[in-house]
Amino acid sequence: MRKSPIWLGLSCCLAVAALAMMFAHTANAAQCALISRILLGVSLISLLALGVTGRERARSQGDGRGFRVNPACSTVRFSDVAANEIALNSLKDLVDFLRNPEKYAQMGARIPRGVLLYGPPGTGKTLLARALAGEAGVPYYALSGSDFVELYVGVGASRVRELFAKARKAGKCVIFIDEIDAMGKKRDDASSDEREQTLNALLAEMSGFQPSEGILVLAATNRVETLDPALTRPGRFDRQIEVGLPGRDERLSILRLHARNKRLAEGVHLEDVAQSTSYFSGASLESLLNEAAILAVRRGAVAIENADIEQAYLRVVAGEDRPGVGTGREKRQIAIHEAGHAIASRHLQPESAITRISILPSSKGAAGYNLVQPRERALVDREQLRNQIGVLLAGRAAEMLICGAEALSAGAANDLTRASEIAAAMVNEFGMTDEPYLSLRALRHTLGTGSSDGALEQCKCLLRQEFEKVTQLLASHAAKLDRLTDALVECEVLSGAQLEQLLSSET
Ligand code: ADP
Ligand code: ZN
Ligand code: MG
Repeated sequence: MRKSPIWLGLSCCLAVAALAMMFAHTANAAQCALISRILLGVSLISLLALGVTGRERARSQGDGRGFRVNPACSTVRFSDVAANEIALNSLKDLVDFLRNPEKYAQMGARIPRGVLLYGPPGTGKTLLARALAGEAGVPYYALSGSDFVELYVGVGASRVRELFAKARKAGKCVIFIDEIDAMGKKRDDASSDEREQTLNALLAEMSGFQPSEGILVLAATNRVETLDPALTRPGRFDRQIEVGLPGRDERLSILRLHARNKRLAEGVHLEDVAQSTSYFSGASLESLLNEAAILAVRRGAVAIENADIEQAYLRVVAGEDRPGVGTGREKRQIAIHEAGHAIASRHLQPESAITRISILPSSKGAAGYNLVQPRERALVDREQLRNQIGVLLAGRAAEMLICGAEALSAGAANDLTRASEIAAAMVNEFGMTDEPYLSLRALRHTLGTGSSDGALEQCKCLLRQEFEKVTQLLASHAAKLDRLTDALVECEVLSGAQLEQLLSSET
């Protein structure tokens, strides 16, 4: 890992992501969350965030309609959570409240009834909720927003009432609703009758209980911007805690925590691992060390070596290479597509090194990918976003250029989706238009939906421009595109160094 800090980037169906995420001074929570999601929530790393909810949820199922909720006892403590200082401190306050709610009630203190944890997947939201219940020593009820989503009107609402009735009877407790966006989406579509009732039931229950009861509702979401504003009004989820992706030092402390029970060889330095894992979530870091440990066991080794970590890294970000299947022609087309991303990335995002290109299918479902080491940034600007769109569209542009419109493959779907999401955010949120003082999203939110404002046209125009630009760029490097395509067809996988050698000569 030390010598070759590989990277995540992801192309084609994995795409060449590489973006900033610490929008520290875009104060608006929803906006930050949206940005995180677009710019890198993106990543397949999110697939790894399976967490523990699955197991917990199993306990909350059972009766005639498939719903029964029982309290669990959490064994997780704050010491099991690394990094996330701000979130931890905020929750520590609440431990005392859960232990002694009467004290606060007597003093007339108003404690938040609901705490909302939001941030990208795998950042430890579920973990924090369990740690809070564990520290306070109170039972907790773990549910998912989707447990309340039913076909039949009224079922969700009656489940909410059932849950709160039970919790009240039990006394002090934590109610944890994971993925609350499933039940608390904005109420703007026609099919929302059932959801609306469910949400109203939840809001009514939350405003119904007394602080002295010692019941705290915790909820988590990766998509805070889709939540109904009724949920975030004072008196509901009035404390909102962002749980963001860890920075370098935070990654180090998460790695240290998960390395506690693992045997690392002497040459392994977690500082280096932390350095080369920008944009990893806590879940991906945990998974990285775990995969490395498994690889070490398979080798029959006594400790985890750097090579294990490097291999685990590839597995975590890109999955394992699978043998290629398709025909020679299909293989060539994938090579053209990936070569297009690579060449565009080298020109448009030179600060992000490509460390691997593969045209072998990956176990994560990509037909091929570019692995890119993105530079961590505090803020992205318009040009970088445009370039990112260009790199995303370059796979499709190369296919068009070499194979023509008739031969386009379906493999670019994910690239197109992500490019469109970025364009939409630029137009809708960031005011990167000819009206740089406007947030269309905020306006539409306030004025109500249905107002037409040409945003779609603006997005299309932006995408068209970037597509044309990157097509030209690739056309002017046609010889390189050809050379890289041939090399990929022949070798299937190229390292960053091999790529550099191939492309560094003129022409
Ligand atoms: P989320 O609910 O935000 O998607 P989880 O809480 O399910 O994320 O995290 C999944 C796993 O990742 C945790 O069980 C833990 O092993 C690891 N993890 C994530 N964040 C942290 C952290 N800050 N400290 C230690 N482990 C973490
Ligand atoms: Zn692509
Ligand atoms: Mg979770």
